[in-house]
Amino acid sequence: MMIIQTTKDCSANNKNRILEEVKTLGYAPATVKTQYGAYIVCVGSAPFDIRHIGNLPGIRDVHVVKDSSKLVSRQWKVETTRIPLNGDLAISRNDFTMIMGPCSVENEEQVAEMVKFLKAEGVRVMRGGVFKPRSSPYSFRGLGIEGLKMLYRHCRENGIYVISEVMQVSQVDVMHDFVDIFQVGTRNAQNYNLLDELGRVDKPVLLKRGMSSTLEELLASAEYVFSNGNEKIILCERGIRTFENAYRNTMDLNAIPYLKEKSHLPVFSDPSHGVGLRSYVEAMALASVMAGADGLLMEIHQVPERAISDGQQSLSFAEARRCIMKVNETVQLRKKLVLIDEV
Ligand code: PEP
Ligand code: MN
Repeated sequence: MMIIQTTKDCSANNKNRILEEVKTLGYAPATVKTQYGAYIVCVGSAPFDIRHIGNLPGIRDVHVVKDSSKLVSRQWKVETTRIPLNGDLAISRNDFTMIMGPCSVENEEQVAEMVKFLKAEGVRVMRGGVFKPRSSPYSFRGLGIEGLKMLYRHCRENGIYVISEVMQVSQVDVMHDFVDIFQVGTRNAQNYNLLDELGRVDKPVLLKRGMSSTLEELLASAEYVFSNGNEKIILCERGIRTFENAYRNTMDLNAIPYLKEKSHLPVFSDPSHGVGLRSYVEAMALASVMAGADGLLMEIHQVPERAISDGQQSLSFAEARRCIMKVNETVQLRKKLVLIDEV
């Protein structure tokens, strides 16, 4: 397996020559063009002289990648991915990003109050589902695109970014101008048509782990988005199904350091769905920070008992305020410990 990065100005002739050379070596090439670069992913295992390939005109770099995930692997890209949001905010391993909001967008009053709360607490990204994947068809399915437009307007007026779940291909276009980050839910983690489509937009995609996906499968899903042209991917652990039924899901904290080592992408944690019970959410949020999470996705509600969905795992404003304070302290502590490591 090799990944060839071509130069920005690589001519069609040079590219064809590279493709011919790698085919002659016994590799099957796939060309990938993203908002950041151009690549030729070459599948095969034949031995080759890296200097020979590397010296062809139009090549920027050649990397050998043994991992089963390719473009999302850290084996070729040592520097980690930084995802700028429109303007002053970026998601990366050097920033810590807090995302909070309701499971579902319920009404305008709720949104206005919540935006005010988030602004006061310094939370810059708001979550809120308008297309809800519910386990029962009789449950509330979300306010739809009108709800998203309303959410977006309130957030924009207050300098807050929006993340919302996209459930199917046709919604990508419809939602595009009213989200800053597309969220792919656990139930769609392997919806490859949707992942293909999200690879064609220039907006970040937060990819949740399927509830019974292995980490390799999660990375493969990220590979779909990248290989279709979008490098702005955030991986998110959100708990998996195990035999344990004392809580909603089993938060796999192991996934955080593992994904950070295997991939160059930012890794987030969603402790709300991860444990699914409000009284344990803060503990799992802090544990996620210490495990290395680059951000948190959390559900909050002004009156959790009355939330239309996922009230049992949503923090009240008072709980959220306390949690934010502790998360900020924990992020500072983590930074200090890293500095000690570096000595
Ligand atoms: C959600 O974020 O509200 C949600 C439905 O999450 P998940 O896909 O992780 O269940
Ligand atoms: Mn939810």
